[in-house]
Amino acid sequence: MADSDSIRIQANLETVRATLAAAAARAQRDPEEITLVAVSKTWPAEWVRFAVDAGQRVFGENKVQEGEAKAPLLPSFLDWHHIGNLQKNKVRKALAVFSTIHGVDSLELARQIDRVAAEEGLEPSVYLQVNLAREASKHGFTDEQLRQDLEALLGLSRLRIQGLMIIPPFTEDAEAARPMFAALRALRDELIDRFGVPLPGLSMGMSHDYPIAIEEGATLVRVGSAIFGSRG
Ligand SMILES: *Cc1c(COP(=O)(O)O)cnc(C)c1O
Repeated sequence: MADSDSIRIQANLETVRATLAAAAARAQRDPEEITLVAVSKTWPAEWVRFAVDAGQRVFGENKVQEGEAKAPLLPSFLDWHHIGNLQKNKVRKALAVFSTIHGVDSLELARQIDRVAAEEGLEPSVYLQVNLAREASKHGFTDEQLRQDLEALLGLSRLRIQGLMIIPPFTEDAEAARPMFAALRALRDELIDRFGVPLPGLSMGMSHDYPIAIEEGATLVRVGSAIFGSRG
């Protein structure tokens, strides 16, 4: 069924791009400033290739091993992002595959990435994950921790700190996430003011809520099932 998978994935990608552009237009934003990360976790490299054929270049995986397995099967010009929880003992392997790490959730993990990046001669991009809802089940800095730790984080010279990332509590009603997205943007703006640093990036929005995240300022959305289908 490769043909029908290819047609379906390419049609889904077109829909997602159009939806992204419409959301950007509603917010009077340039769609070019929003990066679509196609989250290919659980799906085969062949399906990634269908998306590549449709012009997609940035892909997200949440498991280091899966990225390690898939990336060599695909063109080397692709840009791989690690989007989930990253264990400290997997940092070296992660940096070999991923240009960008989205789930930097502690100063300790950031220090480990900085250390390994120095040894490997790399300068990875990172997003600092914030747990604004303070959910016990989720990773991330609280806003308070981030205010405390940002100075130390900014001292890690190998890290290109792009901005903040959030995975809001899941709700059926995507509108319920809007206040979280707005709060992440407000925190970002506050940190820019206080620390005088560029923190342009907001990694927020998934398949069910990315248009809302874009309306609230997302610069990067992580979209999986709306492109590749439900993971079941
Ligand atoms: C799986 C995942 C996504 C994509 O989720 P979809 O609902 O399939 O779009 C985005 N971000 C993270 C961190 C994920 O783990």
